[in-house]
Amino acid sequence: MADRKTLLPAVREFLDQRPVRMFIGGRWAEAQAKGTFPSVDPGDGEVLATVTEGRAADVDRAVSAAREAFRKSGWSDLTVKERAVFLHRLADLVDKHRAELAQLESLDVGKPLAQAEGGDVPDLAHSLRWYADFAVHTRLREPIPVSGFEAWQVRFPYGVAAFVLPWNFPLLLVGWNISPALAAGNTVVVKPAEDTPLSTLYFCKLVQEADFPPGVVNVVAGYGETAGAALSAHPGINRMGFTGSPEVGRLVASACGKNLVPVKLELGGKGAAVVFDDVDPAQVAEQLVAAVTVNTGQVCCTATRWLIHEKVWDSFLAVANERMQSIRIGHGLDPATMMGPAVSEKQRQRILGYLEQGQAEGAQALLPGGEAKVAGHPNGFYVKPAMLTGEPDNICARDEIFGPVAFLMRFKAEDEAVELVNRSNYGLANSVWSADLARANRIAERLVAGNSWINGHNLFPHGVPYAGCNLSGCGGGVLGPETYFDYLRQQSIVRPLG
Ligand code: NAD
Repeated sequence: MADRKTLLPAVREFLDQRPVRMFIGGRWAEAQAKGTFPSVDPGDGEVLATVTEGRAADVDRAVSAAREAFRKSGWSDLTVKERAVFLHRLADLVDKHRAELAQLESLDVGKPLAQAEGGDVPDLAHSLRWYADFAVHTRLREPIPVSGFEAWQVRFPYGVAAFVLPWNFPLLLVGWNISPALAAGNTVVVKPAEDTPLSTLYFCKLVQEADFPPGVVNVVAGYGETAGAALSAHPGINRMGFTGSPEVGRLVASACGKNLVPVKLELGGKGAAVVFDDVDPAQVAEQLVAAVTVNTGQVCCTATRWLIHEKVWDSFLAVANERMQSIRIGHGLDPATMMGPAVSEKQRQRILGYLEQGQAEGAQALLPGGEAKVAGHPNGFYVKPAMLTGEPDNICARDEIFGPVAFLMRFKAEDEAVELVNRSNYGLANSVWSADLARANRIAERLVAGNSWINGHNLFPHGVPYAGCNLSGCGGGVLGPETYFDYLRQQSIVRPLG
């Protein structure tokens, strides 16, 4: 593990618990079966902490606690303003404990500390505040003008909202998911990814400190096939939000389908960037290199297919190559690190396997990538960034690799670029880069995906819905005003007049 002397005392104390327990009904709980699992520092390959392994019985306890809190704690009956006070208090605590949360996030995911500190953690606080404030300015009771009747519609929280989340942005995704559900008055049960449960469990300390009624927020760490499957199939939940791969999304959706529980799926992507010849290719290359290497490329929506106008191909490539090679790879806690390790050995092998398979299918390596060695951290799961080029049906142009790998293709005409982007089975996010805004706007609307970005990539302002279509998901998305209403059931009240 990273030198323990560099760890903040609160982080050290947290990691030294044997085990780090889960949070159910406002208390720290052991697993019923007494099992544990290790959480590993991907920068060193060493065990960071031992975590209580929740299974079906623990999920059951967590769902019961959440149901009980929904019915009896008074949380769902608070006014939106009163709930907003809790969410703001929690956001303030997230800010106050930013350093600890960021250190844990960096250690567990492998991401550079500065990114966790400046990005992931403040984003969590922002989500809590944004939905708290949005809820305060929203009307939950609306008259419906129809002739012959007095009618109105009123919205109520559903009950228990369950979340199964991935490992790439644990805290940020906790914020995106639970904030609207809590603001709406639901109680929540979260199953973080087994690779990165630590920051979400630490967050529960803050929930406690913010004095949330017991059972409003519950976290059960554990494996997907056991804890995740048990939560998805639990008849006591009222909503499910799943973020992860399409393969697991299908399983979660079918389990929820059996209980007729509405499900939101935020799945993978194969984002493209279309770069026209009227931009500064060096500037765009720099931004796309940053996009494909942030979080070691383990970002669902990032730009992984780069479509470059043939007129700027050479100049773009020269800068991209130089930038990719200047990325400083290292441990997340090393301040000089620009790109950390892959999250696990399994993920590293997945990235390396794709590079091999892509080239076996005829792709040409513009920058070969491969395993990276980092001095002082011989057992970390490091990879180098890579660039490939080839045919659009190459496996590396089709599949989500989830690593710092860009697949480059040339184009001449607008229609050709649009066709190349829309070949993907995914539909999460793409970007268009052009000085001609009329063209950029036109193309942005022709790209089939939940999100089109112009002259930027990975843009997530709160208030703008972020969702996928096709293989990238369904069910409403996150981050928008609509997300708040997704956690409220509608009820119509009607009385005949006269
Ligand atoms: P994953 O699908 O393997 O796991 C996601 C979660 O599902 C984990 O908590 C895991 O434990 C759980 N799980 C695994 N098997 C399960 C089962 N049988 N039943 C219920 N739960 C189960 O995904 P991952 O590897 O953690 O994350 C990477 C994927 O997530 C990528 O495809 C990425 O694009 C996607 N992602 C999407 C978004 C988005 O907003 N669209 C954001 C982040 C990540």
